[in-house]
Amino acid sequence: MVTKTIDLRSDTVTKPNEVMRAAMANAEVDDDVLSFDPTAFRLEAEMARITGKEAALFVPSGTMGNLISVMIHCEVRGSEVILGDNCHIHIFENGGISTIGGVHPRPVKNNKDGTMDIDLIEAAIRNPNFEICYPKTRLICLENTHANTGGKCLSVEYIDEVGVLAKKHGLKLHIDGARIFHASVALGVPVNRLVQAADSVSVCLSKGLGAPVGSVIVGSREFIARARILRKTLGGGMRQVGILCAAALVAVQENVEKLADDHKKAKALAEGLNNIKGLKVDIASVQTNILYFDISEDANITAHKLINQLEEHGVLMMADSSSRIRVVLHYQISAADVQYTLACIEQAVNGTPFKNGH
Ligand SMILES: *Cc1c(COP(=O)(O)O)cnc(C)c1O
Repeated sequence: MVTKTIDLRSDTVTKPNEVMRAAMANAEVDDDVLSFDPTAFRLEAEMARITGKEAALFVPSGTMGNLISVMIHCEVRGSEVILGDNCHIHIFENGGISTIGGVHPRPVKNNKDGTMDIDLIEAAIRNPNFEICYPKTRLICLENTHANTGGKCLSVEYIDEVGVLAKKHGLKLHIDGARIFHASVALGVPVNRLVQAADSVSVCLSKGLGAPVGSVIVGSREFIARARILRKTLGGGMRQVGILCAAALVAVQENVEKLADDHKKAKALAEGLNNIKGLKVDIASVQTNILYFDISEDANITAHKLINQLEEHGVLMMADSSSRIRVVLHYQISAADVQYTLACIEQAVNGTPFKNGH
């Protein structure tokens, strides 16, 4: 009998816990569009401190955080941004930087580790002496961890190198750090050091950190002052937003230390999957809380069939293709949930009847 759902579809599915709900209920609030909400200010000050930037701004989503950042760095319509061809901004944000921001994307191939080759980035920078035909390159975007390549960490050395390149050509550097805390924990490098070379960073609070809503962007005081105005323009100014920021503060204070455990559970799941005939995970590629596993052709099951069978037993996952499944760990999945999940998968793949209770 299924009594509980084990939701491995994403780390966005975390639900606010009791501490967060209590903090929300007791939050001191005021009108944040008029810049009076004390709890929003507390969260923003804390995020600026953690990331080592001058200022921060709470935004409703990571998508809006990236859009605002790109639009500010590329203030002249028709400017160009260099970004990974497999990055979230390019793939999953409705092309908003173009349709709303008037910014032209210049995708560069993402490697399997989430990087773009430095020489390919440099080659993509437009020659400013041919402005009769070329848009002007103004920005480079990196993503850390890199979601679509399976939560890969960009090293501080790599980011610094891109930062040097950006400076050399007078460009800005934005990091989509939706999961920057995961990278920091996995690499053992403090967040402020990891993003030192960046002019701006967007950080998700509602993924692995477990807040119900929101992201934060960080940068210089001037950048954030302009971001505050653009957030209002885009309809992202919110009034008593301290209710949400109170939960986000708990997330940042209490849940960062749980990420290492999420990475361990991902590794344990990956190792368990590799022991099941017909399934394969590249263990070395599991660096943080995201993993992909492949179902071999001679296995007697497709990704979609496996997912349907697991759902009957309360285990939720998402298919990436007919032979590939994505799994994302977060703090509301226990080590026992991982073992239960493995048992369910093994029985589904082997076609034996389920015998586990949960
Ligand atoms: C989830 C995510 C975003 C966007 O966040 P939303 O809050 O869903 O808009 C941006 N970048 C990356 C890498 C993400 O994983």
